[in-house]
Amino acid sequence: MDKRGEKYRDLGLKLTPQRIAILDYLEGNLSHPSAEDVYRAVLRKFPTMSFATVYNTLETLKRRGMVAELTGDPEKKRFDPNPLPHHHLICTGCRKIVDVHVEYRLPVADRDRAGFDITSNHIEFLGTCPACTKRNYT
Ligand code: ZN
Ligand code: MN
Repeated sequence: MDKRGEKYRDLGLKLTPQRIAILDYLEGNLSHPSAEDVYRAVLRKFPTMSFATVYNTLETLKRRGMVAELTGDPEKKRFDPNPLPHHHLICTGCRKIVDVHVEYRLPVADRDRAGFDITSNHIEFLGTCPACTKRNYT
């Protein structure tokens, strides 16, 4: 087993070359790709890859906490290979999603938190990215 195989071994996935290509594409990927994006990227290397393989691999990684599913894009699920807590800027024009690595300590008053012991938060900041702002004003 090569180095990459070793790194992914603990996933408990049968590591086919196709799955390794998916994992390689996700590694360090900051674009928050959809399943279609992942599929298009790995198809270049594996023209016989099926969309089902991509989709099922993403779902398995999600169940194992290796990727997070983002809900900020109403058109399609987007995936985040960085499972560590962070927030997102989402462009309502082009749906670009950018990470925000700042810890916001937001108090929720006792009367508002329904008895919950709050352990984390995830904030989606909606707005317009620089490219869309430029497009709108030129
Ligand atoms: Zn935009
Ligand atoms: Mn992210």
